[in-house]
Amino acid sequence: MTGRRPRRAPPPATGVLDWSDRSHWARVQAPCKHCGAPTFLRNDDGLPADKVCAERALTERSARTTAAYQNQQL
Ligand SMILES: [Zn+2]
Repeated sequence: MTGRRPRRAPPPATGVLDWSDRSHWARVQAPCKHCGAPTFLRNDDGLPADKVCAERALTERSARTTAAYQNQQL
């Protein structure tokens, strides 16, 4: 045994976040950083965020980035 952990394949880029890990759940509600509604969920940075709001923000950011790159090519 080498003591090294086996490498996991990166998740597919589907736009759907996997927040099944317990690190994404908190015991107390806090306002979502996107919409302000109370949520038990936390994003990867530990900030309160609804999963659907985080997925929407990720999709919008990706679309803005794609548009910016496309505009540079004109
Ligand atoms: Zn929200």
